Amino acid sequence: MGVLVDGFGRRFRYLRLSITEVCNFRCTYCLPDGYRKTGAESFLPPDQCERVVRAFASLGVGKVRLTGGEPSVRRDLPEIIARTAGVPGVEKICLTTNGWNLERQAAAWRAAGLTNLNVSIDSLDPEGFRRITGHDRLASIVRGLDAAVALGVPSVKVNGVLLRGGVGRGFDAFAEFVRDRPVAVRFIELMRTNDTTAFFADQHVPGSVLTAWFAERGWTARPRGLDDGPAQEFSHPDYVGRIGLIAPYAPGFCDGCNRLRVTARGQLRLCLFGELGVDLRDLLEADEPDALQARIVRALIGKPAGHRLHEANSGDTRQLAQFGG
Ligand code: SAM
Ligand code: SF4
Repeated sequence: MGVLVDGFGRRFRYLRLSITEVCNFRCTYCLPDGYRKTGAESFLPPDQCERVVRAFASLGVGKVRLTGGEPSVRRDLPEIIARTAGVPGVEKICLTTNGWNLERQAAAWRAAGLTNLNVSIDSLDPEGFRRITGHDRLASIVRGLDAAVALGVPSVKVNGVLLRGGVGRGFDAFAEFVRDRPVAVRFIELMRTNDTTAFFADQHVPGSVLTAWFAERGWTARPRGLDDGPAQEFSHPDYVGRIGLIAPYAPGFCDGCNRLRVTARGQLRLCLFGELGVDLRDLLEADEPDALQARIVRALIGKPAGHRLHEANSGDTRQLAQFGG
């Protein structure tokens, strides 16, 4: 079995596979005007998703996250989860969702083999949630999340984007949320994308506001695992759950990069904020696993040292729904 290592000695064990660009939410920081179709929607069918996963698994990847757009708008999501779970070597089958149909679908996803569920919840105030996402659905999403915990999904997490408006009281509300829930809430520092530069200028706050909040309240940092995502998680003896921070603007953030992305159209993206991608579609359609692996390994030579967000350069990323965040 080969391994995926880039020119900077970074080892890749984690694949984020986008399965659609379509989304039914209008998050202020991502798709404020909703999803707009660009070009034909020729997203990877389940068999080609499986071929992507097989190629990466044979190169040492054991963790696969399905994302989008909103992955659950695809009716064949349970089949894609099951095909991913059936690939030898893949131990963590993860999904990032806005949760709109979680309450109805949690059992089917779990039965298909889902092990790690991340649900995006940016505010625990129903009106704040509606303002950010365009949907009055918080209560159902929280019920869905609790259902997933009750079903025994081994890892259930919440993603919240760190917005100026949510600092302070927002942190306190999320801490209360994890007091008795075995759930990790992770705040993601808002990232600049080409379509949302004005929003970014208005709403970006550095991750240090959260680390200061942790320090004042006795939350302590936990060690990271080899295939963990980019979050630094914190725990507290009085709380069952954890709170974490993903701080892409922090120094050295890209040094520990362990993940690669494939878009819903079958392009390998070496960096979320890079440019262009390496097309894998022809080899996925032709089902040529050896050539596919070789192309992926070769492409890694071109992986840049890091993103250039500090220079207000977001590559060709208009918004994160485009490539899967
Ligand atoms: N639709 C799904 C969801 O919202 O969970 C999956 C795709 S979404 C692009 C993946 C993650 O990216 C979400 O947790 C979302 O909050 C986050 N995200 C989107 N745009 C972002 C931005 N500009 N900065 C930071 N996080 C962002
Ligand atoms: Fe859709 Fe997710 Fe983007 Fe919100 S963050 S608009 S749910 S893709």
